[in-house]
Amino acid sequence: MKKKLIAGNWKMNLTLNASIELTGNIVKNVPKKSIIETEVLICPTFIALSACSTLLKDSGIMLGAQNMSDKDDGAYTGEISASMLTAAGCEFVIIGHSERRKYFGETNQIVNSKSLKALTSGLKPIICVGETLQEREDEIYEAIVEKQISEGLAGISDEQMSDVTIAYEPVWAIGTGLNATPKQASDMHKFIRGLISGKYGSEIGNETRILYGGSVNAKNAGEILHAGGIDGALVGGAALKAEEFCTIISSATEK
Ligand code: PEP
Repeated sequence: MKKKLIAGNWKMNLTLNASIELTGNIVKNVPKKSIIETEVLICPTFIALSACSTLLKDSGIMLGAQNMSDKDDGAYTGEISASMLTAAGCEFVIIGHSERRKYFGETNQIVNSKSLKALTSGLKPIICVGETLQEREDEIYEAIVEKQISEGLAGISDEQMSDVTIAYEPVWAIGTGLNATPKQASDMHKFIRGLISGKYGSEIGNETRILYGGSVNAKNAGEILHAGGIDGALVGGAALKAEEFCTIISSATEK
């Protein structure tokens, strides 16, 4: 059975020392039972990855990056490659977060190219999709997400899908304190699972992990994580506090 995944996206927050401190506190406070029943991932900034990797050793908590290049190596100033991330201890990489799409112009094609590069380099992509507030109000949110899924997954094989995680993150719920109701989230997860089943068959559709992201916190995690079809959470702001992040992790196992 698929375990739920609780992933913390630290975004452009925390110095190296602060990242080390937060990682140490998460390792110390994460409930032992939860770490067996739930998968836990932290995604610090690039410069903290190696140090965090050392601290996570034997903790059962996994490490991921927030972005990567779709190029192997070479003259791409300011970029970071998949091989650098695996060498730093990463197992996962977040691809196509709405902040990357909005501020750095990442298109579905770039998201696809990065996801393919991650997969062929031994990294598991967490591919983010989700509609803006305007798109929800215009009632075109399903069409938007359908395009993000079909273009984002282009060329990804059946076998590779076992390493793909999707994160449904309505843009209007990220960092705003607003979140989708459990029903809205559950309905969209069902819709996305239907798209994946349509492309890859129902076995892969059922097995693919789909996370919810958007202002998940210690208070609302329980009802969101146990709404139907939600396989975990991608957590931003609340992942920066060890105690709150650990409470969210516990909520994934409690019924
Ligand atoms: C995110 O960064 O993916 C996110 C969901 O942020 P927040 O939890 O702060 O809304």
